Amino acid sequence: MLIAYREHEAERAALGLPPLPLNAEQAALLVELLKNPPAGEEAMLLNLLENRTPAGVDQAAYVKASFLADVAKGIASSPLITPTKAIELLGTMLGGYNVPALVSLLDTPLAEEAVKALSKTILMFDAFHDVADKVKAGNPHAQKLMESWANAEWFTNKPVLPTEIRAIVFKVDGETNTDDLSPAQEAWSRPDIPLHAKAMLVNKMPDGLQTIETLKKKGMPLAYVGDVVGTGSSRKSAINSVQWFMGDDIPNIPNKRTGGIVLGGKIAPIFFNTAEDSGALPIQCDVSQMKTGDEIIIKPYEGKVLNAQGAVISTFELAPLTMPDEVRAGGRIPLIIGRGLTGNARQMLGLPPSELFIKPIAPKDTGKGYTLAQKMVGRACGLPEGTGVRPGTYCEPKITTVGSQDTTGAMTRDELKELACLGFSADLVMQSFCHTAAYPKPVDIKLQHSLPEFMSSRGGVSLRPGDGVIHSWLNRLILPDTVGTGGDSHTRFPIGISFPAGSGLVAFGAAMGAMPLDMPESVLVRFKGTMQPGITLRDLVNAIPYAAIQRGDLTVGKQGKKNVFNGRILEIEGLPDLKVEQAFEFADASAERSANGCTVHLNKEPVIEFLTSNIVLMQNMIDNGYEDPRTLQRRIEAMQAWLAKPELLQPDADAEYAHIVEIDLNEITEPLVACPNDPDDIKPLSAVVGDKIDEVFIGSCMTNIGHYRAAAKVLEGAGGIPTRLWIAPPTRMDENQLRDEGVYSVFGVAGARTEIPGCSLCMGNQARVADKATVFSTSTRNFDNRMGKDARVYLGSAELAAVCALLGRMPTPKEYMDTVGDKLTKNADSIYKYLNFHQMSEYASKKVIPIAELVE
Ligand code: SF4
Repeated sequence: MLIAYREHEAERAALGLPPLPLNAEQAALLVELLKNPPAGEEAMLLNLLENRTPAGVDQAAYVKASFLADVAKGIASSPLITPTKAIELLGTMLGGYNVPALVSLLDTPLAEEAVKALSKTILMFDAFHDVADKVKAGNPHAQKLMESWANAEWFTNKPVLPTEIRAIVFKVDGETNTDDLSPAQEAWSRPDIPLHAKAMLVNKMPDGLQTIETLKKKGMPLAYVGDVVGTGSSRKSAINSVQWFMGDDIPNIPNKRTGGIVLGGKIAPIFFNTAEDSGALPIQCDVSQMKTGDEIIIKPYEGKVLNAQGAVISTFELAPLTMPDEVRAGGRIPLIIGRGLTGNARQMLGLPPSELFIKPIAPKDTGKGYTLAQKMVGRACGLPEGTGVRPGTYCEPKITTVGSQDTTGAMTRDELKELACLGFSADLVMQSFCHTAAYPKPVDIKLQHSLPEFMSSRGGVSLRPGDGVIHSWLNRLILPDTVGTGGDSHTRFPIGISFPAGSGLVAFGAAMGAMPLDMPESVLVRFKGTMQPGITLRDLVNAIPYAAIQRGDLTVGKQGKKNVFNGRILEIEGLPDLKVEQAFEFADASAERSANGCTVHLNKEPVIEFLTSNIVLMQNMIDNGYEDPRTLQRRIEAMQAWLAKPELLQPDADAEYAHIVEIDLNEITEPLVACPNDPDDIKPLSAVVGDKIDEVFIGSCMTNIGHYRAAAKVLEGAGGIPTRLWIAPPTRMDENQLRDEGVYSVFGVAGARTEIPGCSLCMGNQARVADKATVFSTSTRNFDNRMGKDARVYLGSAELAAVCALLGRMPTPKEYMDTVGDKLTKNADSIYKYLNFHQMSEYASKKVIPIAELVE
């Protein structure tokens, strides 16, 4: 084992990487060696046990904790580890498998040592009650431990956030999105934090890592500084990479770091939260006077950044107020868990609530009405019915539904292990494989084989590779007016509300069934008037930033960028009869607005239709062996209960919004497209006529079955086309239905490349468009290099995409209108028809499902 390990260590060292943490098999071999250590290997063996074996509920942690517990109890022995040392090491394992052993040691002569170990442990969960029982039974050690928790010694023993931090600036000019920090093409390596970190900024700043290495030689901490930081997907891996280069080691935890400083003119909300959760210090402030290599002095409590000469170069307000506690606790998540433990301990001991922690200040109640989002969150927080949560309030809403996709799933899994989670408290957690199903690498296949069991054994629902895109599935399982989250920035619910998050917070939400939230303000987008011929829903999606640009509420340039939606909740009114599938186009695209969440105000009829359909789908999933059937059954029953009394929350007429954007549908008379390469850079079709199009992508979670029928109608009878056309329907059910209807035969004649249901080019982590291609895409975002190297990408409707595919260029509005008017409007009823499973005999008879047939 040691020979193999040393070889591995040398291979990784040659790549400039630390060895991987031990797996369960290696840990078991290590245990045998520790019982009878070969001469000269003692230090190595101890180091492997102490510092290279994972903590939490990893299988290797299980092996380590069992061995140490046996040593502590005298069942096993090692000449290198005394029982006292074994307990000390158990105390470094965060929680999970180490906890039962430590709690049982409270009844032994080594109880004092167990108290020391457990007083640092906050991931106690149900084991808290075991300690409480010992207190009640008069165990003085349990009493001492309870007092330690009540006094928050786990917190007070840690250093406070300093009044002054000296750092060296590492600046990335302009906008850094999370794909720059954690490129999609390297998604497979994300669980291996040191390896993945090597891909940080490789496209945006090829000499970035070299610069970091040079700056580190100054012997001071580095601060990541950018004009706009962390836009795009919710990637924990992005902050992991920043922390790998600029953070601090975590004692006894292999290959992971915490801490670090991020200064940004604007920091995207999800990235900000992920940084908070991970123990970093994110600060929004003017960074124009900072450049790479500068020494700066940050005074967090005074809200100032000074240069080396002592002159103030930037000011800020440290937000949220609780930031010093978060940094001290090692992150917002440990703070919340620890505060809960302290609260429970004080209650158990009959003490008043602790005054030790900084309390968030609740905003003044204006006495006005509440928005739809505020009411949904209010209900999830258990407030009286119809009461909402005011913006700026810190709250912890109940999380009912959680989504996890494959490129963040492995990190969520690791976070769940560190949270010592063996069962989900959130009612429904779904795992998908949409990002890696089409062209998996060996590492993806491994994940596809191991993650379903991990999730379903905790009560989650796991999809299968090829089933399709997470959101297109998860949306079918959500409940009206409830709150959820997901490890993908497009986890946006068309009914209810979702606050997407990084994998740490997603794991927290899944494990605890609640999540921390600083309630954002809301921006109302109100549509009025009548939709004009040839205009699609996607045009209305693009109309939101277009209207904001025209009113000066949104700017396209990155320096000094203005974005009225940033960090707020987008609340959409005026289109109440949309189908829920259609409503998701709006919710989905709120991610591109950097909005924190989105609601769409619908009438109850489309919601009733949607839930009735989805009950049939879930029944089919149970019949076809999807795990965990109890979770699916519970969700079916919850939907049936809602349908028995179908009522939706309504916004109050006097609800307060931070801003209102009104859009007159009568004024949108031609398609609107997002131009290369910025989802905010919206122009009317007439402004881009004639631009040559090389490739067209019709796919992503922005599409539904109607889009493919519409595209086929445009292409029907045209024969070959001058562009490379990619087709990737969102789910297996869409694909099956489209094949049944003969729609795929049209794509075949056109020479389209049909991909299995999933993210495909939208993510750009597997197949990609040609370098420098000009692309028209129906997908969500067109950040530089996402779909292909130096590709220029337009974003717009499937209908316009099909016309572009046909012509090989952007059409004139007249060419577009002629096609749409002739081919689509006349057949609208048969084209824009959605998947109502309860009306499809093969689903209603429960025989289906194409899923099972295709899997076999
Ligand atoms: S289709 Fe695109 S936006 Fe949707 S989940 Fe996949 S990668 Fe994300």
